[in-house]
Amino acid sequence: MLPTDPPPANPHYSRTDATHLNVSDAEWKRILPDDVYHVAREKGTERAFTGKYWDATGLGTYHCAVCGNALFRSDSKFGSSCGWPSFFEALRPDSVRYESDRSFGMVRTEVLCNRCDSHLGHIFDDGPKPTGKRFCMNSIVLDFVPDKAR
Ligand code: FE
Repeated sequence: MLPTDPPPANPHYSRTDATHLNVSDAEWKRILPDDVYHVAREKGTERAFTGKYWDATGLGTYHCAVCGNALFRSDSKFGSSCGWPSFFEALRPDSVRYESDRSFGMVRTEVLCNRCDSHLGHIFDDGPKPTGKRFCMNSIVLDFVPDKAR
């Protein structure tokens, strides 16, 4: 592929099909932009206050940028000073899944998309009511769909 070519279409992306995907990292590498791949499949983290959604306030739904799975509603998003888009609950309990993450000398809980198993960010216990949770997400693996676009 030449550097000027658009990225290949993503045949796995669907905002309505929640069926679990089994797609190899090699295939995701071929499909996804490098910066999306790095966060989603190599568990990277975008720099605070650099992502497109950390201070976004529009009404709509945040989908997984890798597979299209619906992850969060804007009414669960809250203004967090941490520099990453933050939510107090997932759209459905099974929108995401969790894994223990002991990297970098910390014990954290990783949040993954439950459809494509991509890394989304981490969850912490310092969020607002009603859940007290803070889903600290990377903008680059989210796809915001405004309500009026439906
Ligand atoms: Fe996904």
